[in-house]
Amino acid sequence: MILDCAIVGGGPAGLTAGLYTTRGGLENVVMFEKGMPGGQITGSSEIENYPGVVGEITGMDLMIPWPAQCQKFGLVHEMANVTRITKKDDLFTIHKEDGTSTDAHSVIIGTGSSPRRVGFKGEDELFGKGVSTCATCDGFFYKGKEVVVIGGGDTALEEALYLAKICSKVYIVHRRDTFRSAPNTIKRIYDTENIELILDSTPEEVYGDNMGVTGIRVINKDGERRDIKVPGVFTFVGNDVNSETLMQESGDFLCEMNELGQVKVNLKMATSVAGLFATGDMRQDAPKQVVSAAGDGAVAALSAISYVDELLN
Ligand code: FAD
Ligand code: NAP
Repeated sequence: MILDCAIVGGGPAGLTAGLYTTRGGLENVVMFEKGMPGGQITGSSEIENYPGVVGEITGMDLMIPWPAQCQKFGLVHEMANVTRITKKDDLFTIHKEDGTSTDAHSVIIGTGSSPRRVGFKGEDELFGKGVSTCATCDGFFYKGKEVVVIGGGDTALEEALYLAKICSKVYIVHRRDTFRSAPNTIKRIYDTENIELILDSTPEEVYGDNMGVTGIRVINKDGERRDIKVPGVFTFVGNDVNSETLMQESGDFLCEMNELGQVKVNLKMATSVAGLFATGDMRQDAPKQVVSAAGDGAVAALSAISYVDELLN
């Protein structure tokens, strides 16, 4: 069977694309998602800027109803790690890790982005043994203890606020003396008593013993070093676009990308390849918000419906 539309990635973008394609009349639509649908926001301890959702809500709470809403209109979720998307003539092929493949007339990709590593000594060796990129997952291990947060963007500051409620003290190590975050979030950071800012500083080395992390050494812009004895280090220094599935055997990407490795799209979320639409965090100029990823999914779905209609009729 050839799918009308294959959706790759089940975050806010992919799930919304699934809702709009199925509800808009496409017959066979499968969303390929390698994990639990919901995307990266499910790892966030708090979301307060999704329109209409008022009060304290976790990313997981926000996303739980989305798959069921799509499935009601016929979206099928296949748990699969997509390794490559190819196109021959008018047909796309979705290649999966288990060696199987599925053909489709159109593809909407929304594989999002993944946390970046900072690059200091010991980070990789102690990852999962005290170094973490997820406060909601690992914060509880440090209840009543001190932790370090690296980064100065929205994610670092919001997750530091979350950790400050669990941990006795949170040190924020940031390489500049100003933050790249919403003013309200910055104000909350300054208002939180058990947060200490270590500015103009970068991590040099995280170290530990066979039980895990025991401390981190940071260096400031004057070359002064400081050891902070903590069992937990959380890094939040941005994300890289997940574009591997677009990489072809030749080493070229299936569609045009920009210099930052993001997929080039037009206002219909159409890429340079007919029938291929890109959405959410992976596309150029993405605002990297749940609401905009969902909006992209809706736009891409409407574009895919028109494309398939023209192709088959
Ligand atoms: P993602 O959410 O990244 O989803 C992509 C999906 O594709 C994932 O489920 C992944 O498993 C899947 N996938 C990837 N590769 C493959 C593959 N090869 N095969 C199959 N499946 C694959 N935004 C806000 O609006 N408000 C906030 O308060 C906010 N807080 C945040 C807090 C944190 C800690 C983080 C990390 C992000 C936050 N964001 C917030 C940003 C928001 O989460 C993203 O902008 C949004 O999730 C992007 O949606 P997406 O669908 O493009 O991608
Ligand atoms: P980000 O905005 O790219 O911020 C990354 C932070 O890490 C920056 O402060 C950066 O420093 C620092 N950094 C990067 N590389 C580093 C390195 N090698 N060593 C030390 N520090 C380093 O990433 P983000 O905070 O994950 O946010 C990603 C996107 O999601 C943003 O668009 C953000 O607005 C959005 N988001 C929104 C919300 C919300 O709306 N509430 C919540 C979370 C995320 P510099 O500042 O010096 O560059």
